[in-house]
Amino acid sequence: MKFSNFFIPTLKEVPSDVKMKSHNLMIRSGMIRQETTGIYSWLPLGYRVLSKIITVIEEIHKKNGVNQILMPTIQSADIWKESDRYETYGKEMLRINDRNNKDLLYGPTNEEMITTIGRQYIKSYKNLPRKFFHIQSKFRDEIRPRFGVMRAREFLMKDAYSFDINEENGEKTYLEFFMLYLKIFEKLNIPVIPVRAPSGEIGGNLSHEFHLIVESGESEIYINDKILDLNFNKFTLQEILKLESYTDDFYTKNNFEKKLKKYRSIELGHIFLFGTKYSRSFNFHVDSDNGKIQPFMGSYGIGVSRIPAAFIEYSNDENGIKWSKSLSPFSIQLINLLSEDEETKLFCDKNYEKLIKNGFDVIYDDRLERPGKKFSDADLIGTPIQIICGNAYKKEKKISVVKRSDKNEITIDALELMPELNKIISKI
Ligand code: ATP
Ligand code: MG
Repeated sequence: MKFSNFFIPTLKEVPSDVKMKSHNLMIRSGMIRQETTGIYSWLPLGYRVLSKIITVIEEIHKKNGVNQILMPTIQSADIWKESDRYETYGKEMLRINDRNNKDLLYGPTNEEMITTIGRQYIKSYKNLPRKFFHIQSKFRDEIRPRFGVMRAREFLMKDAYSFDINEENGEKTYLEFFMLYLKIFEKLNIPVIPVRAPSGEIGGNLSHEFHLIVESGESEIYINDKILDLNFNKFTLQEILKLESYTDDFYTKNNFEKKLKKYRSIELGHIFLFGTKYSRSFNFHVDSDNGKIQPFMGSYGIGVSRIPAAFIEYSNDENGIKWSKSLSPFSIQLINLLSEDEETKLFCDKNYEKLIKNGFDVIYDDRLERPGKKFSDADLIGTPIQIICGNAYKKEKKISVVKRSDKNEITIDALELMPELNKIISKI
């Protein structure tokens, strides 16, 4: 992609109510634009990050037998009346009337809808287990929408739902999702910590959240530092339940006061095995050899549009964002500091084509801008590798390769660039 063709509306100033670093950087780097309170457009750079996250989430869910669907954003109030949540959900729910005065709402979550889908089509225990997911906008009229897409009113969520024949199988599915979440965050290079979540109004529920430790985070978690070094991938459910990591201080007050350390963090995912709560209220049962049984259900959310903000909060410096390869909108930024010089331009144009042919996702800064502007934009948008071509190329056919994260720089012969690129990248 050529910078001159790509829409990156970087800004120098942000509105005064923008307090959080990630919010500031997302607006300044032209990733997002606020349309109204808590509602954002994703501009090209931001959308590329979002798409990368979506691709990883989709791939891993599908590989694990979770069926992808797409439920609508607008739901009928009727199903929420059936589950008794229409009144209790409160002011976070955006209620809408259509022209026939029918009560609709913009979905804050989809347990009701998925249960009615299950009820209509799943008739026998032989059809279970069944797992579904979708990636769709949610609306929650948050009392304090703030920090940009970190806590928005309209936001993108991946929500998955499972149906099993009984609690034992439900727990197996829950463990599968637990592992699947670890895989997703590992692939995205985001070091999350699973924490036991408060079990909610109905006791005995199984629930975990996945948190990224960041000082500016809104949540507080309590963990035994030892678990920071654990590899959970081979854990059984029993072992997971013994992990000393929690999201509220209920447990600390009781048992663990001394051992656990408090961290601030951002919640990126939440899984929940709630059992027959909805299959009961929707009168959803399937036939089995022992008569009718109510499917055992779980729901599994990831805050898709919160992830870019959370990662930026975790990885930035005074000049801008420091993307990891897995989330960065581009993997390489090729910067021509002498756009008006024919020879340098020819070299950059050629190498831009070659990089693309070799599978690199390149943004090529071919603009007629001052070098200072090109450097500051590159640091702001945070591409992990910068290839810089300027006077040293003109004079002695040398170029620089810079690693954004630590500014480590090496100078190489221009001719070495293509044959040696992978080696160079791994060296810096
Ligand atoms: P929170 O505690 O942050 O309000 P929640 O417990 O209400 O979140 P869930 O219902 O568990 O959220 O939703 C699943 C995921 O969606 C959360 O783990 C979070 O990452 C994300 N999420 C929730 N609310 C928002 C929001 N207002 N803006 C962006 N992402 C959100
Ligand atoms: Mg939650």
